[in-house]
Amino acid sequence: MISKNVLVTGGAGYIGSHACKALKAAGYTPIAYDNCSTGWEEAVKFGPLVKADLMDQAALKETFERYQPIAIMHFAALSQVGESMQEPGRYWRENVTGALNLVEAAVEAKCFNFVFSSTCATYGDQDNVVLDEDSVQLPINAYGASKKAIEGILQDFGTANGLRHMIFRYFNVAGADPDAEVGEFHQPETHLIPLMLDAVDGKRDALTIFGTDYDTADGTCIRDYVHVCDLVDAHVLGLKWLLDGKGNRIFNLGTGDGFSVREVINHSRAITNREVPYVEGARRAGDCTKLVSGSNRAVSELGWEPKRSNLHAMISDAWRWHQNVANHYKK
Ligand code: UDP
Repeated sequence: MISKNVLVTGGAGYIGSHACKALKAAGYTPIAYDNCSTGWEEAVKFGPLVKADLMDQAALKETFERYQPIAIMHFAALSQVGESMQEPGRYWRENVTGALNLVEAAVEAKCFNFVFSSTCATYGDQDNVVLDEDSVQLPINAYGASKKAIEGILQDFGTANGLRHMIFRYFNVAGADPDAEVGEFHQPETHLIPLMLDAVDGKRDALTIFGTDYDTADGTCIRDYVHVCDLVDAHVLGLKWLLDGKGNRIFNLGTGDGFSVREVINHSRAITNREVPYVEGARRAGDCTKLVSGSNRAVSELGWEPKRSNLHAMISDAWRWHQNVANHYKK
């Protein structure tokens, strides 16, 4: 029987664990490959876990030999904009070298289908520019720069070795599995919606709004939020696209709707029936004013149908997860 194994790096993390669930539902076996430095063993529920690091070339080789995956979904990465400005070396080393090790192991094992988790942070802070897949990439933080470099690696190995790649540039991923089997839980947490819900819940004193002097209607940054379940659905479609031999492609994954930090805060009141305690703080280094997708290529070409990527569903699903399940992930 032909293997239906898919290697999911970062399979114990937020997006990776949701991808494993979606892959299993679509008839694949997700093999989570994760060092569990930021992920959670408890989040690996849909297939086996290989607890190993992308820096470990021997472990990578052994994993490809053992599981013979038909494809890779590569999520494992350091992913915090602010941290990347303070520790750029770690971002370049771990993200880029990790991806390079993975690509080389894949090519050696003749696994030629590669779905990559890239980011809108590769576009940078471009005023009044429609961000579509053909936009110039001018990252302003080391996180975005490291992801852009990995896109380049995939293109080069595509040319040299026939590696087929699907690049997804995500906007802001939010929400959680509506069944609350998996969800978002970072330690330390840095993302807006879980931090806001922590503040609502009294787990922290207040949310700090990073910057109120941006050139936007209410002075706070604008982002395009996409539900994690819709995002991973696109990955399953992307995998099928590659397996069907449709070729290399880049897709933005965003809705095209932007919301400011204040709008997100205001919206949460209707869901939690509570005020969000917040303070206004300084800008965070590396933050762009506005990141909103200007493309619906994923909808028109890939057949992506986002279903839960509205603020209400994203905050409601995150709130359900936050209240009931977050304590299940323990180091
Ligand atoms: N943000 C904020 N306070 C926080 C965390 C985030 O005001 O404690 C803002 C941040 O400046 C950005 C937006 O919320 O404009 C989304 O940030 P997040 O870290 O969730 O995602 P990123 O855009 O960095 O990928």
